[in-house]
Amino acid sequence: MKAHDGMYIGGAWRPAAGRDRIEVVNPADEQVIAEVPAGSADDVDAAVRAARAALPGWAATAPAERAALIGALRDVLLARKSEIAQTITAELGSPLGFSEMVQVGAPIAVASSYAELGASYAFEERLGNSTVLLEPIGVVGAITPWNYPLHQVVAKVAPALAAGCTVVLKPAEDTPLTAQLFAEAVHEAGIPAGVFNLVTGTGPVAGQALAAHEGVDLVSFTGSTAVGKQIGATAGAAVKRVALELGGKSANVILPGADLAKAVATGVGHVMNNTGQSCNALTRMLVHRDQYEEAVSLAAAAVATYPSGDPTDPATRLGPVVNAKQHERVRGYIAKGVEEGARLVAGGPDAPHERGYFVAPTVFADVTPEMTIAQEEIFGPVLSILPYEDEEDALRIANGTVYGLGGAVWAADEETAVAFARRMDTGQVDINGGRFNVLAPFGGYKQSGVGRELGPHGLAEYLQTKSLQF
Ligand code: NAD
Repeated sequence: MKAHDGMYIGGAWRPAAGRDRIEVVNPADEQVIAEVPAGSADDVDAAVRAARAALPGWAATAPAERAALIGALRDVLLARKSEIAQTITAELGSPLGFSEMVQVGAPIAVASSYAELGASYAFEERLGNSTVLLEPIGVVGAITPWNYPLHQVVAKVAPALAAGCTVVLKPAEDTPLTAQLFAEAVHEAGIPAGVFNLVTGTGPVAGQALAAHEGVDLVSFTGSTAVGKQIGATAGAAVKRVALELGGKSANVILPGADLAKAVATGVGHVMNNTGQSCNALTRMLVHRDQYEEAVSLAAAAVATYPSGDPTDPATRLGPVVNAKQHERVRGYIAKGVEEGARLVAGGPDAPHERGYFVAPTVFADVTPEMTIAQEEIFGPVLSILPYEDEEDALRIANGTVYGLGGAVWAADEETAVAFARRMDTGQVDINGGRFNVLAPFGGYKQSGVGRELGPHGLAEYLQTKSLQF
């Protein structure tokens, strides 16, 4: 795989300050496919300086002109779609069809949405005798995870650029090649030097240096709740703005009267897509006691249609998890589920292939709300099915974790589903299989995060207000 031996800073690829390297591993066969530099605090400092230097010019650029450049970036991503998808499959392991359609398709749609929004957004409003100016916050430090390596980057960079901010990105260690391709696309689109900068590196070194840098005005982080808490504390101590998109343990509530077969099949697909490595994955399926055994059989049959294997093979529907650590962790959770008394109806802790970080698609029945597998984020292809007695019981279970990112409700009619969704403590709810919308705000209640991404709400995160009184 192609890799740059440098950082993209101030519009050019520059050598890293130090000699440390990160090896990029293909999780499907455990082979090292590339090396990238592991940035230090010096690299971060150079990138933040470049972003600060570019800020006044970019902030003063007309919104329509900024938006046109985001449109040009979208066009480059579109033209290089299959190369990016192959890179994502190589470093993350998601099946190639999913990489093309979702891993690259979604961020292209997000970039498109900001090419439009950036041009039409009202950066000024009138309130009584005041004019309120919505101005860019400044330099953004963006720290992203590996599970949607292009989408997480575009969901931060596109709105930040549309708002007039400049950016330093520190992508996840496991997926730096996608981030390098994104930097190439930024360059090819003609976005001015210093507006976007890339520093590859580890979380504790480059990530920490970026979050703590005094030249950064807003830290936008997506990743685990544990690291998010640290970043929130660092930003808070410096009175810096912070946006946190963290973990989830989303509930898929199937109410009596819903189309059970469709609800179960869609719910299983939601968990198995991306090998369960979606922060909003519907990993807790809640089914009424009367329909419980039927739902369990339907789920067991549905996971059987997710063969795992080589993610470049079109027949493969389930890739490996991202790395050896996650492989251990996810199988550890499965073992814990068995130990705590849940009933295994599909899959299990044994690795299904000799090579690669594969996990068998797993379904647990008889899961109780307090079990570890019902409370903690597993981030693997593991579904827990929990029985409930009545709607109040279902609501208590659905709301009974520290998280609140995604969710779904299935009912006989929309009205019933919406009434239930209103009582859920979560940032997004899909009604009867409602589809992903690039304009809808995405983000968490409770410990799932602070702030929103996507659409106009996502753009607003990168703006601050100045009121002029007349
Ligand atoms: P992670 O928190 O370990 O890493 C995320 C990013 O933070 C990486 O770039 C990493 O290098 C960096 N990082 C790690 N330690 C750091 C530190 N001390 N200071 C600064 N940066 C640091 O998470 P991960 O394992 O990469 O991703 C999986 C987690 O992310 C899951 O818990 C998942 O739910 C969550 N996630 C949430 C969303 C969302 O939108 N809410 C989206 C994707 C992933």
